[in-house]
Amino acid sequence: MYFHVLTLFPEMIMDGLNNSILGRAMEKGCIRAEAVNIRDYTLDKHQKVDDYTYGGGAGMLMQAQPVYDCVQAVIDGIRHRNQKEIPTPRVIYVTPQGRVFNQQMAKEFAGEEDLIFLCGHYEGIDERVLEEVVTDHVSIGDYVLTGGELPAMVMIDAIARLVPGVLNNDESAMTDSFGNGLLEYPQYSRPRVWRDKEVPPVLLSGNHKLIEKWRLEKSIERTKEQRPDLYEKWRMENDCCK
Ligand code: SAM
Repeated sequence: MYFHVLTLFPEMIMDGLNNSILGRAMEKGCIRAEAVNIRDYTLDKHQKVDDYTYGGGAGMLMQAQPVYDCVQAVIDGIRHRNQKEIPTPRVIYVTPQGRVFNQQMAKEFAGEEDLIFLCGHYEGIDERVLEEVVTDHVSIGDYVLTGGELPAMVMIDAIARLVPGVLNNDESAMTDSFGNGLLEYPQYSRPRVWRDKEVPPVLLSGNHKLIEKWRLEKSIERTKEQRPDLYEKWRMENDCCK
């Protein structure tokens, strides 16, 4: 899977993605990522990419031309790489005005070959180019950040870990929170006693059936307490009265 991030701050993206599990996955070739500088596509002789908004108001807006040319160049590159006609890749505009990102969306995006992320800055991007190129408007939550780079990295991280080969077996995404519609159960590592707190004895029993039962109970308990909305959804879907 290949992530293409269109941004005014490419170093921020590559510095953020080139570490830990994603860095290792890129080295192994399970995923690829490039950060493309939108400024490289401006036709303005002073390299400007933003201007005042019509109608007044505070702040600058990213202009249509450099964004449009940058998106087209990336799509052309993807087509060239594939050496055949392919459907136009999805272009995700990260914006507080989009659908709020969740695990289900991460799973859906993980099935794509290429994903293009468009990061806004300042007041955002001229609406006309968004109408032309964007297929998905996605937010990471109901708050406003200064730019789209962190939201793009958040989404890429969540999507990439669902791509086969990115996680080792012992880092399986299956049992993580949201995998089965619930939050994950509590987990413990050595030592067996820490500050007088003991690891729950069932986890030392070696009885896998009992451990699974305990974990499910704890998952349900925790979800009910921390995320009643999620618990209600899970309860309805599982047709149960717990
Ligand atoms: N004027 C815009 C509004 O009120 O909707 C906010 C612009 S924000 C200061 C600048 C950029 O940060 C946006 O274009 C977007 O790319 C990104 N951004 C900010 N908050 C975000 C969020 N919650 N989710 C995704 N992207 C966000």
